[in-house]
Formats: sequence, structure tokens, C-alpha cells
Amino acid sequence: MTTVLACPVCGGGLVMNTAAAVCASAHSFDRARSGYLNLLLSNKRQSAEPGDSPAMMASRRAFLQGGFYDGMADAANATVGEIVAGRSGSRAKGPTHVADLGCGEGYFTGRLSRALASAEPLGPVTYGVDISRPGTRMATAYSTDVHWIVASLHRSPFLPASLDVALSIFAPIDAADVRRVLRDDGALVTVTPGPDHLDALRIIIYTSVKPHPKTPTLMADDTYFEHTASTRVCYPIHIDSPVQIMNLLAMTPYYWHISRATKKAIEELSTLSLTVDVQINVFRPKARA
Ligand SMILES: [Zn+2]
Repeated sequence: MTTVLACPVCGGGLVMNTAAAVCASAHSFDRARSGYLNLLLSNKRQSAEPGDSPAMMASRRAFLQGGFYDGMADAANATVGEIVAGRSGSRAKGPTHVADLGCGEGYFTGRLSRALASAEPLGPVTYGVDISRPGTRMATAYSTDVHWIVASLHRSPFLPASLDVALSIFAPIDAADVRRVLRDDGALVTVTPGPDHLDALRIIIYTSVKPHPKTPTLMADDTYFEHTASTRVCYPIHIDSPVQIMNLLAMTPYYWHISRATKKAIEELSTLSLTVDVQINVFRPKARA
């Protein structure tokens, strides 16, 4: 199986077989029984189990499976699909490699893989990468076609200049590292909150709601990338389940900062109508310094 995965010890290419991934220097990484590959070296872990907890991943999964974010995910997948379709003619040999960086419990990556496969029969090689081992283990349930990888996003597990498209949905981005692993003619696609994202929830949380910044930090920092396209996706959703309202709250950064009284007020809601508002941005790599 041809991949563009890199050995976390020596940086050499990894060859995948059913049980493990092995580099030319015989560094070997066993595949977990559920199918993911752990390329996070234990000495690079900052805690015993870094990343989001199983409980957070479970809330996230339940909310996403409610379909509330499908509209924005489909728009992001269409953007990636157009880039991949535009590249297939220009690639003389070999498949296209697409990675979802910060894939969490895998919902978006699974949809991406299916969308790309239906657009092109052979399909690109798709990777889902996250530092959370519980999340990546959950993600394996969505697809056996995706390479699910536990790894750091500050040293992402790919060969230099090997990825055609990197996708980041609501995930932190290490621009220097993404630039390192992207091909010079590749693209980075990001999905970030727009100014009205989850407005009704933020109104409850803050007396005066601060809009999300319109300019993601990546756009402000043009060291590695040039911002080439932006699409705003904005639509209303209606949540009529208290459990799903709490699942949504648990997915947001607000969860950790609200008072007990505010949390209780949200717990008592039976329905919530709010706006999904995101920016889908395309960045092209600048020439390497
Ligand atoms: Zn190695």
C-alpha cells in the first residue's frame, strides 16, 4: 500500500502492511486492533492521554450524527473535491493524498472520504490525523478506507512536500508544519467560525456577544501561505433535544468557562434555534524560503 506517511523516529517513508507500518531502518509501528496506527512517540506525549477525552468525543459524535453540521461539511468537501479534480489531470502518476488534520472522532473525515470516492472511482488516499487516541479509535468505525493516525499536528506524520490537500475543520493549525508536508502546488483548506456562528448560544453565555474574529490568524500570518479563496456558509439549525443542546455546548470552548448558573440555564432549555456560520478558506503555499 502506497502512502506518504513518515516514520516518527527517522522521517523515512513507511510501508504499510496489514499488521504494521515499517520504515527502511526497521522502525515498526503496530496497527491497533481497531485499525488505527499510533505514530505518536511516547516521549513526545505531553500527558498520558493527550487530546480530547472520550466523554468529549462521545458528545461530539452524538451531535455531529444529528446532521447539524452536514451543510458546512458538504461545502468543505465540495471545495476539496474541486481541488482534487483539478489536480488529477496534472498528476502524471500516483494517487492524490488528502489529509484531515485534527480529525477528532472522524465524522467529517468519513464524509470526506465518501464524497471524494463518489467523485472519482479510484479516489484519493485519505488520512485522518488526531492526537487523541480515544478519538481516533472511535473514528475507525466510520471507514476502513481512511488511514486513521494518532500523531502530533506539530510534527504531522507525512513526508516533506507529499500531501496534495490538507483540510482543517475547527482544528488548531501549525502553519509551518502544514507547509512542510504540503506539495508546492498543494492546498490547505480551513473551516473556521464566522461572525454569527452559534449566535443564540453565545447570547446566553455573554451579556454582550463578541463576534468571532472575521480574520482567522492564519490569514493575518502570510509567512507560509497565500489566501486565495473564501466562501461563507451560513444556515439556521433547530435543536429540539436538551441532550443535543448539551452535546453542542460540550463541543465549544465556552463549556470550560461558563458559570454553574449559566450551565444550569442551558440545561433547562428544551429547544434552541441558532445559526451555523463558517468560513471555508483556501490557502496556497508560498515558495519555500
Ligand atoms: Zn524510521
